[in-house]
Amino acid sequence: MMGSVRLVLFGPPGAGKGTQALYLRDYLAVPHISSGDLFRYHLQQKTHLGVQASEYINQGLLVPDKVTIEIILDKLLNLQPTDGFLLDGFPRTEYQARILSENLATKSKNIDRVIYIDVPITELVRRLSNRYICSGCQAPQQVNPLEPKKCSLCGGELYQRADDNTDSINTRLDVYERETVPVLDFYRSQDLVITIDGTGSINCINKRVQKQIEDLLSQ
Ligand code: ADP
Ligand code: ZN
Repeated sequence: MMGSVRLVLFGPPGAGKGTQALYLRDYLAVPHISSGDLFRYHLQQKTHLGVQASEYINQGLLVPDKVTIEIILDKLLNLQPTDGFLLDGFPRTEYQARILSENLATKSKNIDRVIYIDVPITELVRRLSNRYICSGCQAPQQVNPLEPKKCSLCGGELYQRADDNTDSINTRLDVYERETVPVLDFYRSQDLVITIDGTGSINCINKRVQKQIEDLLSQ
């Protein structure tokens, strides 16, 4: 099953999806497809899509389904039939989830599990406000304001995302409750959801995720 597991990494902004994604990508040897990273890449390249998306992203709103679905399906449909994948940040609306299921079903490649990283909202606000991203390896990390802004993994320069400001953080958490939580119910009704306690050290969270994945692989 290694290399062919199909996972959705799910959770509110700041839950640690990005951190777990980098770990799972290496552990499972599957392509990591992050909608946020794809949008940021397009923005950096100043493509039409990137410029369009940035208006929504900077306000903390969801990019419209049509654009989002197109960019993700394009990636998924380019994978080899036996490839697994790790979706991160997608689907984020029930409509996106339904379209994804329809497209995977036609290729008999349904999702194996949804890994839901559960973190209380007060903790999310704190994490997002202190979050920095490495410009070298993309790893998100928490930085104490007095510490030097260097990546603990590769020494690269850290930057703060334009949408990690108070207004945008509050909007993203509202949008999550309103539009994204229904996705969880959609997958729960299919019995696909594994809930992970997303509090504590990265190491602890890693171990919890790893245990669930080992169970899944041994089935
Ligand atoms: P976070 O999980 O910290 O909010 P992401 O990098 O996943 O960060 O997403 C950043 C922004 O990109 C979101 O706030 C949203 O504007 C946009 N975005 C990402 N994924 C989606 C999606 N599936 N649907 C709509 N917009 C999205
Ligand atoms: Zn780095």
